[in-house]
Amino acid sequence: MSSTNAKGTLSVAERLGTVNFRNQGRSESKPHIVVDTEICNSTCTHKCTTRVCPAKCYTLDDAGLVHFQYEDCIECGTCMYACDQGAVSWNFPHPEEGKGVNWTLG
Ligand code: SF4
Ligand code: SF4
Repeated sequence: MSSTNAKGTLSVAERLGTVNFRNQGRSESKPHIVVDTEICNSTCTHKCTTRVCPAKCYTLDDAGLVHFQYEDCIECGTCMYACDQGAVSWNFPHPEEGKGVNWTLG
């Protein structure tokens, strides 16, 4: 059940929870974003995408290593501009039907 803040609106996390992804439930699907985490975990010193991705697709584990998963991506495009290390590759439009959020391809 969702809750509302003092202004009576949903939080960002709650709003993200309402997003409907076309790739939900698929076991094999081609990602529309590929991240070379070798770069993330070797030469990148700031790891900014772990802080700016609104869907938390970029995460840091306890050892400080970056991991990426595209399934919850809301296609905001932030990481495409935020990464200055050449680690993020976008393939858009999506390489096959069934990717992304419904408001983009629906
Ligand atoms: S800024 Fe680029 S290289 Fe650094 S962690 Fe994010 S995706 Fe990886
Ligand atoms: S496009 Fe936006 S939501 Fe998707 S992985 Fe990049 S920063 Fe995250």
